[in-house]
Amino acid sequence: MTDTSTSAASATTASLAINTPRRFYRGGERILAFRGLSAPEDFDGYRPEDWIASTARLFAEGGGGVSTLDSGTALPEAFSSDAAGWFGGAHVARFGGDPNLLTKLLDSGERLPVHSHPSRQFAAAHLDCDHGKTEAWIVLVADPGATVWVGFRDELSPDELAELVDAQDERLLAALNPIEVTAGDAVLVPAGQPHAIGEGVLILELQEPTDFSVMLEHERFGLELDHAFLGLDHQVALESVDHGPVTADRLATLRRRWVDVEGVGPALPDEAAPFFRAEVVHPVTGDVSLDAAYAAVVVVDGSGTLSSTDGPRDVAAGDVLLVPHSAGEVTVSGDVTLIRCMPPAPDRGPRLSSPRRPRTSRPRR
Ligand SMILES: [Zn+2]
Repeated sequence: MTDTSTSAASATTASLAINTPRRFYRGGERILAFRGLSAPEDFDGYRPEDWIASTARLFAEGGGGVSTLDSGTALPEAFSSDAAGWFGGAHVARFGGDPNLLTKLLDSGERLPVHSHPSRQFAAAHLDCDHGKTEAWIVLVADPGATVWVGFRDELSPDELAELVDAQDERLLAALNPIEVTAGDAVLVPAGQPHAIGEGVLILELQEPTDFSVMLEHERFGLELDHAFLGLDHQVALESVDHGPVTADRLATLRRRWVDVEGVGPALPDEAAPFFRAEVVHPVTGDVSLDAAYAAVVVVDGSGTLSSTDGPRDVAAGDVLLVPHSAGEVTVSGDVTLIRCMPPAPDRGPRLSSPRRPRTSRPRR
């Protein structure tokens, strides 16, 4: 018998290299700057997303996105070989080797199209997948006046929605709630809510691990209709969209200031808990100790040290680490701010129908 605790495949804290599949919209320079990297010679300006600890794949555009460890092992393989080490027993009992989370850095070099993502219920019914895509934005950098949009201000009938989508003009964006954002803001975007991200923000994004998007605005981005509507009948795809209204009071419940946390505290509104967790760690009055957990850790400011059973590790702004449950309690010290991105607690997340296999977002064809 092989002793898996000493095999090369055992879970251990790892730095994650940049992972930026080509996308249909511009961006990526703010990711390079944040990561402290210079632009590679072949940088084409269409690398707006850094997929962190990803087992998910792009729905179209080449199907890339899966992360690879520096050892050369693709992350789904690493997770299969030591699921308990990576995730801990309670997570595995509920979700198997599925991390149940996708984390990204996203740099909007131009405004993104108005789009929405299906709920778990819709994905299960129409896309053969347990995951929908509720997502959340943790704003790290924002140009002055940077704006995001979430939810229709006024309720639309199904016909009115279909008409707006048919027209493919500026009225679609104009029907949404604009939200001016600054660094330090966080916004939760529940599945179904139409949304857009304006030009000039770098966000840390947490989401359910799929790439299902209904691209309500598609023409000006040159997207094929099959891509825009997830290969579904257009009317069926539009049934996944929330018709509103999203009131000012409702919007307020979807927002939080993450930058004000001292010590350790949540980055996101409580409503995010069934989908993912994001914890801000900012040791102000002494070291902070964190319970063992699988986490994608993004160092957003300063520098300091992370200590665990995997040893001490100096970290600085721009570092991205994958910390396994087996690293045990993690102590954070120094003048540093980091965000710990984690799956939902096992008693809050969904039951998955095939909990032993990590899944990609690809629907069976
Ligand atoms: Zn989105």
